Amino acid sequence: MQIKAKCAACGSEQLLIPGDGEKDQMIRCAKCNANVGDKKAVNEALRKRAKQEADKMIADLKKGLGKAGFK
Ligand SMILES: [Zn+2]
Repeated sequence: MQIKAKCAACGSEQLLIPGDGEKDQMIRCAKCNANVGDKKAVNEALRKRAKQEADKMIADLKKGLGKAGFK
């Protein structure tokens, strides 16, 4: 599984992601070791963002179709 997120402290995208079996589910930055967030919470945030982007794309697509005469 690939998680795309950024460290809020240094902006690095290199994160240490715990395996599912590990007790500590905190994702940490590989560079500065800052806590990025709980793995579940980060996953949830990414899923929401992906859905928002998908919804926006669909909305834009509909707008485009409306302009082209489709309704
Ligand atoms: Zn960092």
